[in-house]
Amino acid sequence: MAKIAINIATGSLQQAEMIVGIDLGTTNSLVAIIHPETKKPVALREHNSSSLVPSVIHFDENGNITVGEDAKNYLETEPQNTIFSAKRLMGKSYNDIKQNASFFTYKVIDNNDESLVKVQVGNQFYSPIDLSSFILKELKARAEHILKTPVTKAVITVPAYFNDAQRQATRDAGKLAGLDVLRIVNEPTAAALAYGLGASSNSSKGGEENSQTIAVYDLGGGTFDISILQITNGIFEVLSTNGDTYLGGDDFDRAIVKHWMEQLSIENSQLTTEVKQGLRLRAEEAKKHLSFNDAFTASFNGNDISITKEQFENLIQPLVDKTLQSCKNALKDAGLQPGDIETVVMVGGSTRVPLVKQSVSKLFGKEVNDSVNPDEVVALGAAVQADILAGNNKEFLLLDITPLSLGIETMGGLMDVLIPRNAKIPAKAGRQYTTQKDGQGSMRIAVYQGERDLVKDNRKLAEFNLTGIPGMPAGLPKVEVSFLINADGILTVKAKELRSGVEQSIEVKPQYGLTDEDVEKMLLESITHAKDDIALRALVEAKTEGEQLLATTENFLTKNTSLISKEEMMATAAAMQALQLALTMDDKNLIQTKTEELNEVTRPFAERAMDAAVGVALKGKVL
Ligand code: AMP
Repeated sequence: MAKIAINIATGSLQQAEMIVGIDLGTTNSLVAIIHPETKKPVALREHNSSSLVPSVIHFDENGNITVGEDAKNYLETEPQNTIFSAKRLMGKSYNDIKQNASFFTYKVIDNNDESLVKVQVGNQFYSPIDLSSFILKELKARAEHILKTPVTKAVITVPAYFNDAQRQATRDAGKLAGLDVLRIVNEPTAAALAYGLGASSNSSKGGEENSQTIAVYDLGGGTFDISILQITNGIFEVLSTNGDTYLGGDDFDRAIVKHWMEQLSIENSQLTTEVKQGLRLRAEEAKKHLSFNDAFTASFNGNDISITKEQFENLIQPLVDKTLQSCKNALKDAGLQPGDIETVVMVGGSTRVPLVKQSVSKLFGKEVNDSVNPDEVVALGAAVQADILAGNNKEFLLLDITPLSLGIETMGGLMDVLIPRNAKIPAKAGRQYTTQKDGQGSMRIAVYQGERDLVKDNRKLAEFNLTGIPGMPAGLPKVEVSFLINADGILTVKAKELRSGVEQSIEVKPQYGLTDEDVEKMLLESITHAKDDIALRALVEAKTEGEQLLATTENFLTKNTSLISKEEMMATAAAMQALQLALTMDDKNLIQTKTEELNEVTRPFAERAMDAAVGVALKGKVL
């Protein structure tokens, strides 16, 4: 019997409702539930077969779709019709993936723009969301077959580095597959949950603080994440995250393929796609063999191929070193030393490689924790999360963080951060803005993610127009822009004009194609360009101030001619001209000086005008 008894007191779910945990992986995917009797998470499997469903999709000439092990069999023979690593394409444009384009043996449409990539199979086009939904549909069907009950609700995990658009894409894929996605959870957070880390039964009772700092090292087939989590009295907090969305066991396989091609003295161009794919599968076999043996030998297309464990370790050492550098960066971001980490959790099939385990253990100066199957641990944690949502498990609370700052574009193309990087989520922030022009009826709100001072160097997530602002002089409307990141890490942006009460609910559609860039690269760039960025920001701010002063002065002159003498008018015109000229040059000090000079010239009659206005306002009023 696979029914979960739901705590009726929570009132949020029907009794016997099944919520599954899904690890939608780059290489493999799987489903887990909390066992109704043991109350422990278990991965679902048919009889004695593997719980892992290869994330591979095959299309036959009639459009029939096969997912999993059967589809994997076509990787060699029908590479054009067999899609693998679709997760790598989630939320990406062709420009994002073009330097890795040769990795995909199927047709990824090169439309040379920023829109979301599509994959072509025969005359059909599929988005990565469609492709992921095929995998999820298959997982749903398998789970229903095993559990003999409908499965409509799920918790799905994503890499910690997935941005908002990629999280939303995963949610959409779930919806297409007929699943109500109750929560998107970071994979490392799920892994920690599966290890039971942070359950209140593990923490001290009686109000005494019990805090533990752990590192989750996740090296799968296609991605690498390191997360530093702090767990205090059952409360999870992600202190920092780092990683590389283009690093995993697939790279180990490619290193072996390259080694063999050198061994056989063959060039890449001499091989057919089928042969390359065949070599890739052989390389994966060799890699797995070398996790437990010292050498691998085989024959491939009549040639002898071999590799020793030592050769393999030399090949992958630079890749492992890259992961260690990410670990150091994550520690630095969290303000910690390796010795501060009490538990290191290993996740992902590639952590079975002995060199990986040894290197991570050496860095943190302690044995790594690998007792839970590294292929299943994320799905098991997703099942634990599902149980928490179902109200059955009250031992955990979850807090996550934003990996990059979120903000909007302000005058001069500057980034105005509303929610800073590493803020705890759920998070909420709001700020007021105003109009630049008299009678301005709409305001463009462009949402960006990143650490640079100018929005052009960050990632654009969305853009919309708040319309219907009633006609008012510039600077009078008060537009409140609010950001809300919910517990799933999904961002909602709202804008409201406060004076008139005009409120428009605006749906923000993430611009998938524009959103992908490696987080680590962005952070690094923000450090490299910090000095230039500060100087540029100061220049942009000076220019904006100068431009605003010019506009207000012009406006003032047309409305108040009677208050200004001829001399004053001429002096003002000269000062305006000087400032206009300064604005065409990128010299911050010159712009500031000319702005100040114009201010000086206009100050006396501005004050006179103010007095006159007050006089008019007071006339006829009973005091
Ligand atoms: P995951 O994305 O977590 O499913 O990890 C899949 C990756 O783990 C693939 O690159 C597999 O080749 C790799 N993997 C699985 N088992 C082993 C093993 N015994 N030794 C080395 N790598 C493995």
